[in-house]
Amino acid sequence: MNNPILISGAGPVGLVLALLLYKQGREVEIFEAVKEPAPLGVGINLLPHSVCVLHNLDLESKLDQIAIRTEALHYYNRFGQKIWDEPRGLPAGYDYPQYSIHRGHFQMMLLEEVRHRLGEEHVHMDHSLISWQEENDHISVTFTSASGKPKSVNGCALIAAEGINSSVRKILYPEEGKPIYGGRILWRGTSLADPFLGGKTMFMAGHQDLKFVAYPISGVDNNNKVLLNWIAEKSVPDLHAEVQDWNKQVDTDKFSDAFSDWNFSWVDIPNIIASANKVYEFPLSDRDPLPKWAFGRLTLIGDAAHPMYPIGSNGASQGILDAEKLAIELGKNQSLFDTFSNYENERRPATASIVLSNRKNGPEQVMQLAHERAPEGFINIDQVISRTELEDIAAMYKQTAGFKVDAVNANSSRDF
Ligand SMILES: Cc1cc2nc3c(=O)[nH]c(=O)nc-3n(C[C@H](O)[C@H](O)[C@H](O)COP(=O)(O)OP(=O)(O)OC[C@H]3O[C@@H](n4cnc5c(N)ncnc54)[C@H](O)[C@@H]3O)c2cc1C
Repeated sequence: MNNPILISGAGPVGLVLALLLYKQGREVEIFEAVKEPAPLGVGINLLPHSVCVLHNLDLESKLDQIAIRTEALHYYNRFGQKIWDEPRGLPAGYDYPQYSIHRGHFQMMLLEEVRHRLGEEHVHMDHSLISWQEENDHISVTFTSASGKPKSVNGCALIAAEGINSSVRKILYPEEGKPIYGGRILWRGTSLADPFLGGKTMFMAGHQDLKFVAYPISGVDNNNKVLLNWIAEKSVPDLHAEVQDWNKQVDTDKFSDAFSDWNFSWVDIPNIIASANKVYEFPLSDRDPLPKWAFGRLTLIGDAAHPMYPIGSNGASQGILDAEKLAIELGKNQSLFDTFSNYENERRPATASIVLSNRKNGPEQVMQLAHERAPEGFINIDQVISRTELEDIAAMYKQTAGFKVDAVNANSSRDF
């Protein structure tokens, strides 16, 4: 091993970075704390700017096998009355689709590709990073395993892609403490359900204190059902529980009563909740933007650098954009200091804006506005929120999150 780039964390972002660096001909070793990889999580969305990166890695056909090309996004009030709808992906004029995908299936597909392209010997499961030490021309990183035996590995750089509970971030920022709870709980699940709104539409109904989100993550099966990813969200201001366990399973009776009369003419939400297989409880949380990501030979990336509320479908997409920018900078003939500075100067402010915008509901603020101005519902949305106001909110968020159609398409031939 000749001082490879070390990646800690084989979540979606660490794996995409490994594929990008391999494509550049770099030596890469990737380390993951988990011993046995498993397809954990439920649905996520990949926006067109990040899909461009994935297609350039020749993953289009693999994605199409496990994801849905989402074509529209609709917002409703808690009575099922439409506030706003917009096309998404190809129908919106992007050169790339938007995908709705099971997070665990996406991670397993990427892991298989990394193993296949880089070679099994460069993927190290059951390696949990505990510390590192900088030397003159390398960084020495120590991992433990379930058997408890520490092992040190040398590399030219360490990229920490360890998610919201990153150990590297904890060591760099010991005063930071736990993720910040946002006052709402998300219950996430999947159900087999009748397709709605054409079968490729994501919808959200309600407002910031009580909301239901659903989108298909599969096509129709032999019984004409789709696998639906859904999130029921409710304001619970005074929670003191531990936040940020993605895998805490609960019963639906913790929240189903709040949605018992949300049976609209076009979708039956109580039935979707009742049909769930497993339901996971996830307190909405994020962390404050950091003043600095790079320290000597290491830098943060993805959720380790900028965990954000799952609003606006940005978590995984922004991490993939981080990976692309970092790979582009690593591919240039420049010092590691300049590489990390250029990466951070672009990606840190961009992602900090999204973290802060998501705290104010991002594009979903149209639902809150409709609720505040017409709590008992409306006949005509134009009498509640003007078309211009709705258009401005949608356009502003696309600008903040970097996925305005023109900007994405102007960049779409990028490759390295
Ligand atoms: C189990 C799980 C389930 C999730 N489910 C959802 C979901 O349903 N919906 C949603 O919107 N988002 C979910 N997320 C978060 C989502 O994956 C991220 O927001 C986004 O994809 C960015 O990914 P990431 O690779 O930066 O971080 P993550 O996906 O969090 O991946 C980080 C990886 O680093 C590993 N790791 C952590 N610490 C260490 C260490 N010290 N040494 C080595 N490896 C380490 C973790 O085991 C994990 O595999 C989930 C995350 C996890 C870990």
